[in-house]
Amino acid sequence: MGENLNIEKLKASVTGEIDAQRHQLSELSLKIHANPELGFHEVQATAWLTQYLEKNGFSVERGICELPTAFRASYGQGKPAIAILAEYDALPGLGHACGHNLIATCAVAAAVASKLAIDQFGGSILAIGTPAEEIYGGKAIMADRGAFNNVDMAMMMQPGVYNTATIQALANQSLEVEFFGKAAHAAARPEAGINALEAMLNSFTAINSLRQHIKSTARIHGIITDGGQAANVVPAHSAGNFIVRAEDNTYLDELKERVLNCFVGAATASGARLEYRWDKIRYAPMRNNLTLARLFRQNMQSLGRRMQLFSHGSAFGSTDMGNVSQLVPGIHPIVAIAPKDVLGHSPRFAEAAASEAGMRGLVDAAKTLTMTVVDLVTNPDMAVKVKKEFQQNK
Ligand SMILES: [Zn+2]
Ligand SMILES: [Zn+2]
Repeated sequence: MGENLNIEKLKASVTGEIDAQRHQLSELSLKIHANPELGFHEVQATAWLTQYLEKNGFSVERGICELPTAFRASYGQGKPAIAILAEYDALPGLGHACGHNLIATCAVAAAVASKLAIDQFGGSILAIGTPAEEIYGGKAIMADRGAFNNVDMAMMMQPGVYNTATIQALANQSLEVEFFGKAAHAAARPEAGINALEAMLNSFTAINSLRQHIKSTARIHGIITDGGQAANVVPAHSAGNFIVRAEDNTYLDELKERVLNCFVGAATASGARLEYRWDKIRYAPMRNNLTLARLFRQNMQSLGRRMQLFSHGSAFGSTDMGNVSQLVPGIHPIVAIAPKDVLGHSPRFAEAAASEAGMRGLVDAAKTLTMTVVDLVTNPDMAVKVKKEFQQNK
């Protein structure tokens, strides 16, 4: 029997395994969807996912990287060590409007189905549970704490409204700002006050002006979290949160300085004192491994789902998978589960994450990830090619 025939037979077995588990996977996904938990509080999701992995022969370490809802499940000891990443946090007020229930279930499904390939060809498969993707950048923390040190490559899927093997995800960093002025009667003694709210409003105006002259891919956006307490008092305090995003770290650094100058200028103009804190976590831009992306796309298309290699013109925010992709070769493909007019992080997207189309996306992505694992463990040259591309593009 030819080698290619062997690989095709193995791919048929692993995808058949996922079809056989479809009912259980659907239950797991819907259970997570019906019990949304916010970042770092994903206690139930973590319990259900790790139980499923343990039941299927994985050894599980819970609470890795000093994060109670992070986990690492592994099967096999050899190289390459291929990680499939799970996210499971929900959004405040919206539930699973980013479809992380599908990401999580897809990851455990693909990891379990990959066992067949590991048993025959060696290598190891890891399911890594990465909490708090939406706000705290769980993967960035885990990357700093060594979670990906012994990983050769990392893959995951994200549900969306189009099919693409690579994404453009921006580097970002958030900023907390406070202005301290001086309270005074707004009508009787306005000349005695220092208006902290005006300093904040002037900062917005300065940022709006700056926005005309920055690269079109960069983003600056913010909110006011304190604008004073009463209309008849000159606001002595104002506060806001901002996010600055750019295509790469160099431009992000440049932009951060220019954004900060907007606040410094407003402080000077108003006489209010400025205090600011850049968040410790920086989301890194996504570095797509094209060798992995091509394999993923090819396998996905073999299931009859058309997929672009590049996400031409399709906007994406930022993801903590970017931080992982700077350390090890990685992909973060998007699989469509809803029509193009459905917005991510919206109630309609939350509905899609519990729909039949959502389940189809989960199954297709799990099969594709597993077939990609088959390609990697059956062909050692492929794993070498993945690494080589990663090192060359450093
Ligand atoms: Zn999201
Ligand atoms: Zn997400």
